[in-house]
Amino acid sequence: MARKKGKKKIVRKHKKPAAVRKKVKVLKKRPVKKKVTAKKSRPAAAPPRKVPDVRPVVRVAGPVTSYDVVLHNFDIAASKLQFSEEVKQLIKTPDRELRVELPIIMDNGKLNTLIGYRVQHNNARGPNKGGIRYHPDVNLDEVRALASLMTWKTAVVDIPFGGAKGGIAVDPAKFSAGELERLTRVFTQKIDCIIGPSEDIPAPDVNTNAQVMSWMMDQYSRRHGHTPAVVTGKPIELGGSAGREEATGRGVCIALRETAKAHKLDLKRTSVAIQGFGNVGAHTARILEEELGAKVVALSDIKGGAYNPRGIRFRDVMQNVSETGSVAGLKGAAKITNNELLELKCDVLIPAALGGQLHGGNADRVQAKFIVEAANGPTTFEADDIFAAKKIPVVPDILANAGGVTVSYFEWAQNLQQFRWDYPRVVAELEKVMTKSYTEVLKAAERYSVTMRIGAYILALDRVAKATKLRGI
Ligand code: NAD
Repeated sequence: MARKKGKKKIVRKHKKPAAVRKKVKVLKKRPVKKKVTAKKSRPAAAPPRKVPDVRPVVRVAGPVTSYDVVLHNFDIAASKLQFSEEVKQLIKTPDRELRVELPIIMDNGKLNTLIGYRVQHNNARGPNKGGIRYHPDVNLDEVRALASLMTWKTAVVDIPFGGAKGGIAVDPAKFSAGELERLTRVFTQKIDCIIGPSEDIPAPDVNTNAQVMSWMMDQYSRRHGHTPAVVTGKPIELGGSAGREEATGRGVCIALRETAKAHKLDLKRTSVAIQGFGNVGAHTARILEEELGAKVVALSDIKGGAYNPRGIRFRDVMQNVSETGSVAGLKGAAKITNNELLELKCDVLIPAALGGQLHGGNADRVQAKFIVEAANGPTTFEADDIFAAKKIPVVPDILANAGGVTVSYFEWAQNLQQFRWDYPRVVAELEKVMTKSYTEVLKAAERYSVTMRIGAYILALDRVAKATKLRGI
């Protein structure tokens, strides 16, 4: 959509003269952390690694952040592709980072000032794309990590988007609907200068949903005219796509189904534990039971979990959630904690809550035979090493949970064309994208003798680098 005259001018990566762009890049560089020269010690219990991919010797000092994890995987893939240091630096550095102050008047009349972020990581392959998260732990490092994951994810499934992410450091459970609406509207106003259907298209993520997207769309449209394509994950009534709400869960199920095919696993005799019962976890559980016939044995949410080795019926959980607001306390199931769920004896573990759940401290105790990552960034590189040594295949987030952004792409395309697809068409198109991408990631992993995660990064980095080169730096 064309921008109105007189609007604030913004820096666009590909439209400034090279010298100016170079200066902007320098100003935006991530502060360089002090590097350690010694190899980080492995947990004593982990046997020697047999997988052939070589991890870099140098790791960042201090606590490992979610962005460190993304950069670590990036560096391995970039080395396999023999990228020069300059190209590596160009591609991994976020394009733009915006921090905004969000003052709102609470229902009791008091002023509350919150902080929000929008990070645009890379738009070489298309407009920036990524969700908006409302959570007390939201911070710039996490948003940066999630934004770069979006760049790799959109490239893995080969849809014409770049990567972005946003969020507000807030506990939305403590806010009324009116307060959340005011917060969303002021956030949209503050990031209005960098979003738009051909600039950056937000979507729901943790603790945001179709209602939040409706407020964002409405707020943006007040200034720019009716613009449904500015956000995805909207309600159907406002231009949302059939099948968008379940899309991430459906994509996770397709990834699991393809894994089962590759490893000759009978899904009808497969037990699955799912951490997180929000949008992604709940749809994953439903489709696993209804369409794939797998047995969901454990589920959890922020309040705790439920475990029944004989299987948990989806409709019983939904009943419990509607009565108590949680899966915890489900009749006929044992109470478990979120940590216990991760370490249960089961065939497949699906983390579908927050990042960093599988780490050096618990990976050794994970008993699942396969891990399919529905959440973004649930596994640290230490845990990855342990899973590789234990020969537990991990289907990485940038492939397994890409169903959501894929159907977001369908929604955006429908909005631009002012045309509607029916549900069977959305499901069929999603199937095509997910199965093709799964095969391509497997091939890349085999070709370079690396894990599926590094295979997915190799595929993505190669596509982003080629697009960057073709457009001209
Ligand atoms: P959601 O807000 O709908 O649900 C989050 C779930 O996680 C809830 O059940 C919540 O109770 C649980 N949870 C929160 N904190 C927890 C904790 N500390 N321990 C255990 N459980 C906790 O969010 P969602 O949209 O389902 O997203 C879940 C994950 O999937 C996130 O990592 C998100 O980034 C990722 N993801 C979401 C989409 C999407 O389309 N919504 C797409 C791709 C990836």
